[in-house]
Amino acid sequence: MSSAAPTNIAGQKHALPSYLNADNLGPWGIYLQQVDRVTPYLGSLARWVETLKRPKRALVVDVPIELDNGTIAHFEGYRVQHNLSRGPGKGGVRFHQDVTLSEVMALSAWMSVKNAAVNVPYGGAKGGIRVDPRTLSHAELERLTRRYTSEINIIIGPSKDIPAPDVNTNAQVMAWMMDTYSMNSGSTSTGVVTGKPISLGGSLGRHEATGRGVFVVGSEAARNIGLDIKGASVAVQGFGNVGAVAAKLFHEAGAKVVAVQDHRTTLFDPAGLDVAAMMEYAAHSGTIEGFRGEVLRTEQFWEVDCDILIPAALEGQITARNAPLIKARLVIEGANGPTTPEADDILRERNILVAPDVIANAGGVTVSYFEWVQDFSSFFWTEEEINQRLVRIMQEAFRAIWQVAQDNKVTLRTAAFIVACSRILQAREMRGLYP
Ligand code: NAD
Repeated sequence: MSSAAPTNIAGQKHALPSYLNADNLGPWGIYLQQVDRVTPYLGSLARWVETLKRPKRALVVDVPIELDNGTIAHFEGYRVQHNLSRGPGKGGVRFHQDVTLSEVMALSAWMSVKNAAVNVPYGGAKGGIRVDPRTLSHAELERLTRRYTSEINIIIGPSKDIPAPDVNTNAQVMAWMMDTYSMNSGSTSTGVVTGKPISLGGSLGRHEATGRGVFVVGSEAARNIGLDIKGASVAVQGFGNVGAVAAKLFHEAGAKVVAVQDHRTTLFDPAGLDVAAMMEYAAHSGTIEGFRGEVLRTEQFWEVDCDILIPAALEGQITARNAPLIKARLVIEGANGPTTPEADDILRERNILVAPDVIANAGGVTVSYFEWVQDFSSFFWTEEEINQRLVRIMQEAFRAIWQVAQDNKVTLRTAAFIVACSRILQAREMRGLYP
């Protein structure tokens, strides 16, 4: 299998996602390139590297539902378990019109790497349905979620594979998934998903966890390059669960959030945007469009004068086209896969530090792990305990990766992959091949 092309086991049959362009080979192709970059550093474990280039299991399911108007609609759903060597699969479920098997495969692989990078005892998995959920009523969305859960029921479970929210899925969707799984298995099984409502075994701190992790990793990285958060200027792409919380925490630490972009608009204020008021505004209107601030053209976002840039929206956003324009000294990847490999090279040549997704946005899965542990023990921790443990795990993981980057003179992304892939392949080697 050539790793330069976006090869996958089935994805070519699907419509290409809209973010694909000349300098983006597609998520699975990008992931394969990242594995190739790390292989020379794996020593004798490189013998097993092919394991990382193939998902262990990929389930494609038909999800038929009756629409409110009485017609039957069919949607394509996926659950991919990339690697289960270190523990059960863990990763979100995405409802989006551009979801493809290739994308879900890549996201599941990044989950394997992320879980190993922060050393939570999980393999990597991801799921999705190719659907625009905004076209469905609440009742249709519930039927879709329940039928999808039933279809993937055979491979998920609290000790097999534990889904969580991702783009366009939330605590309500997790509650329906938990209920459907429990109904099928005959007993209430809260540990089958994370990101649940608090009333159903969800964890305090989960909602803010990914943004908090972005802040913790960003603060560590900033300190290491002599950048003071207090007074630093920050630009954030995406003002959802990850971007808005990260913006809030940087603002509270004394940084100025000078630019925010969402799917509708780009706002700029060199004196600093009012993040708290913008969060309230976005909570009501679903967008930051119309909030006070100078409106920039979409592409101008990447040229904004700032110290820290946080892509927290979608994959493939920092490309060979806009990477040369970026002014920031530090990029913290809140989104999964926001930087193409070509852009990664450009940023490295320009001496811009990238805190990669697999560590920077691992706060969410870390608190998901806490949720799962709490569900198993039916004993719940305080938010303070959760945040303290989160900060400790993220700081330790980042410092270990930083050291590997220094020792091997490689980027933080390659260092994170070295740490993570070594852990996964060590587990593979110790377990041995069955039969
Ligand atoms: P979300 O749906 O809450 O927010 C997404 C934000 O991105 C919205 O503000 C939306 O307007 C904006 N956006 C969408 N398209 C855009 C575009 N073309 N240009 C600019 N902005 C755009 O999603 P989220 O949960 O914040 O996730 C964002 C990213 O972080 C995704 O890549 C996701 O996989 C990743 N992530 C999320 C979590 C989590 O816990 N939520 C954990 C790890 C990684």
